[in-house]
Amino acid sequence: MTTSRDRDASPAPRHKVVVVGAGFGGLLAVKHLAGAPVDIALIDQRNHHLFQPLLYQVATATLAPSDIAWPIRGIVRNRPEVTTILGTVTGVDPAARQVRLRDGEVIPYDTLILATGARHGYFDHDEWEPFAPGLKTIQDATRIRSEILRAFEAAEREEDAERRAALLTFVIIGAGPTGVELAGTIADLARDTLPPDFRAIDTRMTTVLLVEAGPRVLPGYPEKLSQYALKALGELGVEVALNHAVTDVAEGVVTFGGRRVQAGTIIWAAGVRASPAAEWLGAAADRAGRILVAPDLTVPGHRDIFAVGDTVAIATPEGKPVPGIAPAAKQGGRYVASVIRARLAGRPAPAPFRYHHAGSLAQIGRHRAVSDFGWIRLRGAIAWWLWGIAHIYFLVGIRSRLSVALTWLWIDVRNHRSARLITQEADGDAVD
Ligand SMILES: Cc1cc2nc3c(=O)[nH]c(=O)nc-3n(C[C@H](O)[C@H](O)[C@H](O)COP(=O)(O)OP(=O)(O)OC[C@H]3O[C@@H](n4cnc5c(N)ncnc54)[C@H](O)[C@@H]3O)c2cc1C
Repeated sequence: MTTSRDRDASPAPRHKVVVVGAGFGGLLAVKHLAGAPVDIALIDQRNHHLFQPLLYQVATATLAPSDIAWPIRGIVRNRPEVTTILGTVTGVDPAARQVRLRDGEVIPYDTLILATGARHGYFDHDEWEPFAPGLKTIQDATRIRSEILRAFEAAEREEDAERRAALLTFVIIGAGPTGVELAGTIADLARDTLPPDFRAIDTRMTTVLLVEAGPRVLPGYPEKLSQYALKALGELGVEVALNHAVTDVAEGVVTFGGRRVQAGTIIWAAGVRASPAAEWLGAAADRAGRILVAPDLTVPGHRDIFAVGDTVAIATPEGKPVPGIAPAAKQGGRYVASVIRARLAGRPAPAPFRYHHAGSLAQIGRHRAVSDFGWIRLRGAIAWWLWGIAHIYFLVGIRSRLSVALTWLWIDVRNHRSARLITQEADGDAVD
């Protein structure tokens, strides 16, 4: 049954802001609306905020899910004006100023902020997804972790040399930061952590293959850092196939450049597809489905609807696309809060949104990373330490920071990864 409910308990209703998505963009908008005369409904389909930059560490048995995800209710517990709603938005009715949830409920708004992010995109080959899962959620990460660990288990019991070699082949498609980080960490796992635990196989014989359609790894980084990353991957034993677009993915087989590679595990780290927010509004979007927002991050034709983060496409004043990374989403969330505050206070609107790029960091494997701050570019161990400190800083809460720091220290000193848990069956169901 469709019901409409007003969650505002105060007698004189205040301006109601509905934020869809408690990722980086949505949470920063909520944070910077603190103290404004608004009531906020924060809707997310999951009950947790996820630190996606370290998701690959859950997928590679380095960190536990609770190290990088936090209950949304806990994050806003000291904000009585913020109501948290666990629900999936399926549509927006701009005329009625309502957001529709999958269960039929509608949530009214005065101002709406869409911060629904993106998922992996398969370049019109969605049929590849079951064979090459992407990494976006905790479920994706625990599924990939289970697949990786299960491949080693199966190889240990496999007597046929060819089938064993296939089981010990890991193909990662896409050599952006996620692909490079996954490849390097799987190589670390196979070379350093697992060898003493297995009897019949030598896990150092694992093949990690990184396939990239473009001419270099980490294409968003300066050429020299890409070259370093390529060399570092080679030192870790990762085979990199550049200039090769994957032409087919089937169960346990990847085809590219005329090669058919049998692989026990295939992971998709190429391409993203925005959330369907543009479709909800019939808004103009780019090829990846990102809303083409106005310079003040409103959706054209909808003064009271803002969109931020991975679900939007916007260019810098120099004409470069704003990257789909956490700082861009955070800056968007903060900016939108400033526009709403100005409107409510009757002040002139702030200057158009302007993205500031602070820098980029990517880890390649143990003691190997690259960082690019424009004015300074670092690589190797120093970049790795910087990468670690920066990521610990951005985690939520002291417990997570301590836990992650201790886990990394333990792995560095003892080579022991305690998150090596198979929690899902091969078909994705939870292990009993
Ligand atoms: C594996 C991986 C590694 C990454 N590494 C880095 C990195 O190293 N550095 C970096 O800066 N960035 C990195 N990113 C990118 C970064 O995580 C994103 O740019 C950032 O999360 C975008 O923030 P957002 O708020 O737009 O979306 P998200 O953080 O994705 O949040 C979107 C939220 O909306 C919710 N949602 C979606 N649809 C609905 C719906 N219909 N109804 C209700 N709720 C919904 C989701 O559950 C989610 O909580 C990485 C991303 C991935 C996937």
